[in-house]
Amino acid sequence: MIVLGLESSCDETAAAVVTADGTILSNVVLSQVEEHAPFGGVVPEIAARAHITQMDRLVDQAMREANITFSDLDGVAATAGPGLIGGVLVGLMTAKAIATVADIPLIGVNHLEGHALTVRMTDGITFPYLLLLVSGGHSQILVVEGVGKFRRLGTTIDDAVGEAFDKTAKMLGLGFPGGPAVEKAAAKGDADRFSLPRPMSGRPGCDFSFSGLKTAVRQALENLGDTVTEQDKCDLAASFQKAAVDSLLNRLKQALKTYRDEYPDGTSLVIAGGVAANRYLREKLDELSHKKGYTLVVPPPKLCTDNGAMIAWAGIERLRLGLTDELDLAAKARWPLDPDAEPAPFAGY
Ligand code: ATP
Ligand code: MG
Ligand code: FE
Repeated sequence: MIVLGLESSCDETAAAVVTADGTILSNVVLSQVEEHAPFGGVVPEIAARAHITQMDRLVDQAMREANITFSDLDGVAATAGPGLIGGVLVGLMTAKAIATVADIPLIGVNHLEGHALTVRMTDGITFPYLLLLVSGGHSQILVVEGVGKFRRLGTTIDDAVGEAFDKTAKMLGLGFPGGPAVEKAAAKGDADRFSLPRPMSGRPGCDFSFSGLKTAVRQALENLGDTVTEQDKCDLAASFQKAAVDSLLNRLKQALKTYRDEYPDGTSLVIAGGVAANRYLREKLDELSHKKGYTLVVPPPKLCTDNGAMIAWAGIERLRLGLTDELDLAAKARWPLDPDAEPAPFAGY
């Protein structure tokens, strides 16, 4: 079984070809970093236009690198949401056109399911597993019970952790995208110099909050006055990273209690999404997993951030179960993985 996967929900245009045994035949990712960098964040209209300009070429490149033609495909998958609607439409419409001309099934993939199932492609792990999904738009703890079967244990009540990394980088003038820039600066900094809050730590439940931490970084920066040295920036980046990771760990410990009671056979703890590329987070989670008797599974960094291979793989998982879509499938800006979960509660401060 061979599937082409397209991704265009945010600021990466991506196309990849993957087989049912998890072999990635091609995986082409074009980042729009340069287009958005002057604005310090993703501009939806610029993103949509860049996806339109690049998608055909990327599909062509992915097919050539995989050395196949459309007639070799068993299906074509595209992110159908959630994300910036203009971008999602580009990938989905391209996939519909390919499905029509090649007469193959269309599979509309939830972008978050793409992140969530990547470890099954890279490590072949079985359901269920506990997932910490941390990306630019989401911070959630989910039990992954099967394809399309998710139980959300916790979510952010305000910002996503990736967003906090991006905003911190912007405040410190470290550039865009923020996550890798903060990580690099943090490696040269003293994580104990600034005392920053660990939002939600010690509270019941598994929900997150990151906006207070972001504000605390801004205040710490203001307190430094007019002359902020490179070392100050590195120390603040390191202090922020430690606080953010501490707070993720605290919430995950809570979730592990529930998970252990309800799924005593589960042995895997998985991190996915762009922030999972962070080495400090990986190290800390590895320690926690060992201590609690779980195995930590993390995709390679290149497959943590947005890519087409994760969409192609989710397409394969769905195609195998006969979960294909009609050509009138709509693109969705919002699309929760666990539709039964309550909306994020606001805990108050
Ligand atoms: P979503 O998946 O929620 O729709 P997205 O697709 O924009 O959002 P991803 O591409 O999965 O998000 O991840 C991008 C996010 O990951 C950004 O916020 C970025 O700063 C963060 N990120 C990437 N690398 C690192 C890193 N090394 N350390 C911390 N954060 C990182
Ligand atoms: Mg991105
Ligand atoms: Fe993503």
